[in-house]
Amino acid sequence: MPELPEVETIKSDLGAMILNIKISGVKIFRDKSVKNRKEDFVRILKGNEITEIERRGKLLMMRLKKDDSFLLVHLRMTGQLVFCDKDKLLAGGGHSDKDKIGCLPGKHTRVHLEFANGKNLFFNDQRVFGYLKIVKKSELPEELKNFGPEPLGDDFNFDYFWQKIRKRKASIKAVLLDQKIIAGIGNIYADEVLFASGILPWRTASSLKRIEAEKIIKNTKIILKKAIKSRGTTFNNYVDGHGRKGNFVSKLKVYGRAGEKCFSCEGVVKKTRTAQRGTHYCGKCQR
Ligand SMILES: [Zn+2]
Repeated sequence: MPELPEVETIKSDLGAMILNIKISGVKIFRDKSVKNRKEDFVRILKGNEITEIERRGKLLMMRLKKDDSFLLVHLRMTGQLVFCDKDKLLAGGGHSDKDKIGCLPGKHTRVHLEFANGKNLFFNDQRVFGYLKIVKKSELPEELKNFGPEPLGDDFNFDYFWQKIRKRKASIKAVLLDQKIIAGIGNIYADEVLFASGILPWRTASSLKRIEAEKIIKNTKIILKKAIKSRGTTFNNYVDGHGRKGNFVSKLKVYGRAGEKCFSCEGVVKKTRTAQRGTHYCGKCQR
């Protein structure tokens, strides 16, 4: 699932390519992937332009020139945005096999936007948890009301975090995954942050000491910034116009490394299940 660094990467890549170009055609291949009435969705987008792309947590918000609206895109598990012309793939994303990326509607294409300059944007989504939705600007606060602070923002600080965890009985991993508490962290970065902080993922949030809470905040910011710089992790087949891939995968310390040697001690990285998710940790480095 794309997390904050991956969505941020898509945001900047797409922003460089699709802004201020008229949308000339809209095709919906799966009605349920669009959370508006089909007719409304097509009417508002056709002839419109995306003037700006913002991100909130894992949600992309594309500001539309006309109608005072935003096109929201949530990729969820397997959603993917592919921007391309005939034979050149300009931007991808998501989490599926290479053969599903192409500049034609594929088996998993749910929505296709055509641009006046001949370029195309495909929303592909194999497992169909993702969605597109147009909302009025005035509806945005309602749409975002369950989003916690941005982890890289000043709102995500010790006072805030301490107040959220000090009485919480859930595991600290569940807290990090809770988008109402912090928006944008998913399974990969939760495991990495907890390893960097030396904290076992299943510890009760309320058991954390102040210094441990401080470590989590510090490491969250460091790791997410590094991951953004590396263009994210999850895009096995994410390529842009220059053929670059997200390469944070080579910097992961525990995620996806079960059975391998810990980078910090003589121990071995293990995998268990915490907060209903596959969870990677080192039993020696984390307490
Ligand atoms: Zn270790």
